[in-house]
Amino acid sequence: MRTQTIEADIIVVGGGLAGVSAAVAAARLGRRTVLINNRPVLGGNSSSEVRVWVCGATAHGNQRWARETGIMGEMFLENQYRNPEGNPVYWDDVVLDTVRREPNLQLFLNTEVIEAGATGPDDDRRVTSVTGWTMGSEIRTVFHAPIFLDCTGDGLVGRLVGARHRLGKEGRAEFDEAWAPEEPIREFLGSTLLFYTKDLGHPVKFVAPETAKDISTTPIPATRIIRSGDSGAHYWWIEWGGQLDIVDDNERIRDELRSVILGIWDHIKNSGEFDADNLTLEWIGNLPGKREYRRFVGDHTLRQQDVLDQVEFDDGIGFGGWSIDLHPAEGMYATGAGAVQRFSDGVFEIPFRSLYSANVSNLLMAGRNISATHIAFGAARVMATCAVMGEAAGTAASLCLSYGESPRELYANHRRELRQALLRSDSSLIGVANEDPQDLARRAVVTASSRRRTIATDAGGAAPHPLADDLGIVIPVHPALETTDLLLGADEATTLTVEVWSSSKRQNVVPERLEHTAVVEVPAGAASWVSAPTPFFPETPQNAIVVLRANPAVRVQLTSPLPAGVLTLVHRADNDDENVEISDEGLLVKWPTKPLRGRVPVFRTAPETEALAPERAVSGYNRPFGGPNMWASEPLADDTEWLRLDWDAPVEAREVRLVFDDDVDVSLITLHHHRTPDEIMPQLVRDYRVEVLPAGSETWTTVVAVQGNRHRHRIHALPAGLGAFRAARLVVEATNGAAEARVIAFRVQA
Ligand SMILES: Cc1cc2nc3c(=O)[nH]c(=O)nc-3n(C[C@H](O)[C@H](O)[C@H](O)COP(=O)(O)OP(=O)(O)OC[C@H]3O[C@@H](n4cnc5c(N)ncnc54)[C@H](O)[C@@H]3O)c2cc1C
Repeated sequence: MRTQTIEADIIVVGGGLAGVSAAVAAARLGRRTVLINNRPVLGGNSSSEVRVWVCGATAHGNQRWARETGIMGEMFLENQYRNPEGNPVYWDDVVLDTVRREPNLQLFLNTEVIEAGATGPDDDRRVTSVTGWTMGSEIRTVFHAPIFLDCTGDGLVGRLVGARHRLGKEGRAEFDEAWAPEEPIREFLGSTLLFYTKDLGHPVKFVAPETAKDISTTPIPATRIIRSGDSGAHYWWIEWGGQLDIVDDNERIRDELRSVILGIWDHIKNSGEFDADNLTLEWIGNLPGKREYRRFVGDHTLRQQDVLDQVEFDDGIGFGGWSIDLHPAEGMYATGAGAVQRFSDGVFEIPFRSLYSANVSNLLMAGRNISATHIAFGAARVMATCAVMGEAAGTAASLCLSYGESPRELYANHRRELRQALLRSDSSLIGVANEDPQDLARRAVVTASSRRRTIATDAGGAAPHPLADDLGIVIPVHPALETTDLLLGADEATTLTVEVWSSSKRQNVVPERLEHTAVVEVPAGAASWVSAPTPFFPETPQNAIVVLRANPAVRVQLTSPLPAGVLTLVHRADNDDENVEISDEGLLVKWPTKPLRGRVPVFRTAPETEALAPERAVSGYNRPFGGPNMWASEPLADDTEWLRLDWDAPVEAREVRLVFDDDVDVSLITLHHHRTPDEIMPQLVRDYRVEVLPAGSETWTTVVAVQGNRHRHRIHALPAGLGAFRAARLVVEATNGAAEARVIAFRVQA
């Protein structure tokens, strides 16, 4: 047995997606970072030991343009490339590689933190160390650092050092939350074990072990949908322990869950109700996936209203988009739905003040243990959102060291710098524009070889589609929309009501406010162009939703792919999980994009647009927000397209940062919930080079040349000794499939 001491700048305890993202973010900013995880694999509930699929703000495609960027976005893209079928073992290595790639990051697997040292009075504690025991190696390690992050999910570190926390449900009066129970109650979302099955291609028997529960004695067969073809997280509803103590009673909860899984399998194999002769049980989880335990008290407690009203915070460090997703405390034995969900009409912000302890001055937290009420936690808890918080907390920890400040002081003095640092890393921020004084591109004149001047589809390959439901075409308006022409067919002469709607928030894409109504004549016959007046002149760039009211006699022509900045909404309820009850309050779920994902009625708009002009690549937002916020060229054909920056006087720079479009509307997922066909997002630029025009020269010098790119965010150090240059250009030679070049950000950092 050995004892050792490790000194670091930042210590992150817990290697779920919150902890992984926190540690990677801190290490990338040059901090000597330690990540400690008590399991042999990273990923927490997403790991192959538990096998929950990673969801985030897209909420299985319910929210629009909501997929995470930053570290989580990188892992999503990498997994999609390596593991489109969603093998949980392959996902483990996507996460592990993301960590191992960082030279400043020291990883301690199999190391359980069991003690922590702290000083100071109850209302001003300070963590001094954590101590871990490495299973199998018999090593006791004492870790010291000036700042610590508790990403353990259960919040053990904070508990050991006396961080104030909450357990269970708040009473309604405490935060005035409509969904909270009248009185506080110590109930949780329960824990879950999952199982995987396999078709052996020949009959195989199952003899139920003695511990299998007879589920006919429970409400399960009557109240839950059981399908023999389902496996893994399809069975999220095998949940229990919400009325116990999730941590104290962990062993009892695991035994109950396991006996129920064996009972469900016995029911599937031996009841005769299922086509399951060839199926065998391939794997049962042994580590209960925990949904909820401690939630620390920070300087802000995220509430139901913050989520549903989408409150804007000047310290917003990331966003979520999952519904407030609450489960009955009885879990699988409840007679009602397994979950009740209520969506906000767009993504909601998470403030930095929810990520640090109110009474432990050097403790940050990320993941399911942040400062939130039980209700708001119901929306913030999904793993890609946890990863977004982790990236923010790791970045904040690094800035705390730079400024010599506590997290609370960082909030008071440098929250703007925190948000700019996150934007520079292409993190998942909403509504934050680039104000980075080090980005020289912001002072340049921006031009391009070409640009998309109109928002319109191609008509080629379109297929007729009866207008049985109201359809909404989302169109970026910058600065004006006057007419929308539609290619329409009809059996007999008829009329069509065409409306223009807008949303109250720039990140929302729901028809909230009626701006204009027109009724147009549709002639009988095959498709012909019909022009509809759709006047909309927003003060700032905004999306219009052009709604075509249902008329089954009318046929739109559906085409693909979607032009940049365009989506199609369908006015029809859409719920693919019968174990969930989705509240129909709010507009988002009434106007889903899923039914016609990737397709749009053939249309063209007037007048010309600035929405895809070259200036959009330096205008500051890194994601759709009142428009696509990207430059899009004309189709490349055999040519290259370029985006150019010119300065009045020569500049010197150390690096170029590029952000390419990767269609953040597509809901990627780590496991087998659904499969997205593209292994590489086709919008991503594939081959490109960066050139500069040195001061006093008329010849472009290539400083970066890349072939086969499949990433969204690329950082290129410029060659040492490059000297001053008066222009820089990004030359796009090919994409991964999109017709045009799409660039979200072109930064030249001093
Ligand atoms: C069955 C189930 C279904 C769910 N459904 C979804 C879903 O479909 N999609 C989704 O995205 N989310 C889902 N969630 C929620 C989500 O899994 C959690 O909210 C999320 O995992 C929290 O992330 P985290 O990083 O905070 O914690 P965790 O994922 O819990 O990770 C914590 C990590 O810390 C480690 N750790 C804990 N204590 C210590 C210690 N003392 N020392 C060292 N390491 C420690 C753990 O081993 C783990 O690796 C579900 C959860 C469950 C249980």
